[in-house]
Amino acid sequence: MSQPSSESAVTVGVLKETTPGEQRVAVVPESVPVLARAGVRVLVEPGAGVSAWFPDGAYERAGAKVASRDEVIGGADVLVGVGAPTPELIARLRSGQALIGMLRPLAEPELVGQLARAGVTAISLDGLPRTVSRAQSMDALTSQANVAGYKAVLVAADHFGRFFPMLITAAGTSRPANVLVLGAGVAGLQAMGTARRLGAVVTGYDIRPETREQIESVGARFLRLASVAPAEGEGGYARALTAGEQAAQQAELAAQIARFDIVITTAQVPGRRPPLLVTAEAVKGMQAGSVLVDLAASRLGGNIEGSVADQAVLTGDGVRIIGAGNLPAQVPNAASTAYSHNIVALLAELVRDGALTIDPADEIQAGVVVTHQGTVVHPAVAALLGSPAEGGSR
Ligand code: NAD
Repeated sequence: MSQPSSESAVTVGVLKETTPGEQRVAVVPESVPVLARAGVRVLVEPGAGVSAWFPDGAYERAGAKVASRDEVIGGADVLVGVGAPTPELIARLRSGQALIGMLRPLAEPELVGQLARAGVTAISLDGLPRTVSRAQSMDALTSQANVAGYKAVLVAADHFGRFFPMLITAAGTSRPANVLVLGAGVAGLQAMGTARRLGAVVTGYDIRPETREQIESVGARFLRLASVAPAEGEGGYARALTAGEQAAQQAELAAQIARFDIVITTAQVPGRRPPLLVTAEAVKGMQAGSVLVDLAASRLGGNIEGSVADQAVLTGDGVRIIGAGNLPAQVPNAASTAYSHNIVALLAELVRDGALTIDPADEIQAGVVVTHQGTVVHPAVAALLGSPAEGGSR
């Protein structure tokens, strides 16, 4: 952010999130002075941070103005949120206003269409080009996946009827929990490290062979499946497996899974439904009291057969399958703080001379700017809506 003159300033509005269960807030008090130094004023709706343990007074002490929801919506040049806006909020936005959040434009193209029609500049952090090094401080997918991986282990431990570590006491010795983590992206590696720190014996698996070293570096053993060839895709992601590869993977995993107490799944393939890794048959092979947590559970399905987001299912054999849902929202103070740092870094990129500057030629903006001046400018989203994006080859 270049230093603006005193009369030129961007006003950022922070609303209380309205999605049920969402406890995060997009900007935390410690970010307010950082933004102020760059001439970015912050308006905050009363109670916006309270679920994440950031009371209104903390924002005021940091230099933000706490104002009614109407004043925040009316007075902000840029509204920042965590999740997607409701239709009620979109209806109240004015042309030329900007909205930043994790808008999931590829999953919710209709919402993007509404934002374009309202003339709103929609900026979605989930489109960030993650491998661009100056984008790393803005990478909300990473910061939130990190929280999810950590929390998944705590959820599993909470539902597990034994200890994670080996404990030697006068009342006997307990063997450590045997934990398997499937998928070694950001969330998976954090889950492995967290389970290790709790004292479990941890094994990790991923379809990308380069993860072996990463898995071992967090203190876990690498599980090698003989029947499945490596499946790297583009940009560090995995490719989708063929039906035959998937069946072989499921069968070999089923044979392995029976020896684990806890299974945490985190596998994703960009733009696809999550791969099914753990079949009902594999779950049947597990001991009563075992716990599975599916971070990929969504309305598109998950990594575990029968998992449902935000629901815990107890099978007839006494195995609990937990569909994770929105885990970062359950660690709201840490998740909000990390997200707020991502937002500050993004604003540093977007605010020039005291104004939000949209430059579709910039490689970061090309990924995150979804709508601008009434048009869906992100080609992948425009293609989903059946309207060609203007002026770009993204
Ligand atoms: P993700 O959420 O897309 O997927 C999680 C993991 O699932 C991946 O490791 C993937 O290989 C694995 N997976 C997919 N299908 C599978 C299958 N059938 N069986 C087993 N595993 C399967 O991943 P992510 O956390 O977003 O990370 C993706 C990549 O991006 C990683 O290489 C990560 O290191 C990289 N990344 C790079 C940066 C950066 O350069 N700054 C930042 C974040 C992530």
